[in-house]
Amino acid sequence: MRILLIGPPGAGKGTQAVRLAAHLSIQHISAGDLFREHIDQGTELGQNAHTHLRAGLLVPDEVTIGVIKERLARPDTERGFLLDGFPRNLAQAEALDGVLADSESRLDAVLDLEIPEAEVVKRIAGRWLCRRDREHIFHVDYSPPEVAGACDVCGGELYQRDDDREATVRMRLEVYRSETAPVVDHYQAQGLVTTISALGQVQEVLDRALVAIG
Ligand code: ADP
Ligand code: ADP
Repeated sequence: MRILLIGPPGAGKGTQAVRLAAHLSIQHISAGDLFREHIDQGTELGQNAHTHLRAGLLVPDEVTIGVIKERLARPDTERGFLLDGFPRNLAQAEALDGVLADSESRLDAVLDLEIPEAEVVKRIAGRWLCRRDREHIFHVDYSPPEVAGACDVCGGELYQRDDDREATVRMRLEVYRSETAPVVDHYQAQGLVTTISALGQVQEVLDRALVAIG
């Protein structure tokens, strides 16, 4: 299966993507995680991307599309993939359409996570991530780790993202409204979109997503 997960920052894309990808035995590909790996490794691409992440702006398309194309070309995506946080503007959506056309494949579903901004702000403010494995995601109130500062799954150190501060979050929400929301219309025109509420327990949202992809 080939699935896209779209939604504002903090909607729960990563949280759902990890579970959906495991359930469907497909690769979870997060553009943000790929950039954070580059940043941690200190690559030139990472240094360039970091400027944009810190400002809450999109990394330029030529860089982002290149990173995603390279990842999609790996053989482990043959069974399918779940793209989390890509495409985030129309140019990226068109680039993805091209990649799919070249490989004579198509998307099965686009999930659009809907959530009020007030809830997004709470989710982001309390988000803690594991340094060892970015797929281990916690929240200070909603899914707190048993030991403060340590990952329940692997014991890794928990940290808060430097772009999760208030001013940057406001910018990311603005970028979502102006650049990413039109992507939903792009796929709506292809009849692929199901909008689901991202409110409620993680399991409830997951159940909605599973129903949506059938
Ligand atoms: P995104 O990838 O869309 O930015 P995350 O999956 O990282 O979002 O989730 C943002 C924060 O909200 C995390 O701290 C996560 O633990 C928490 N979270 C995710 N889904 C839910 C939910 N259904 N209810 C409460 N908190 C949630
Ligand atoms: P969130 O969904 O919580 O905003 P992500 O990890 O998906 O977090 O994205 C974090 C940052 O990474 C974005 O604010 C942006 O700077 C960069 N980024 C992620 N995905 C893309 C993309 N598709 N195009 C350009 N930049 C991206």
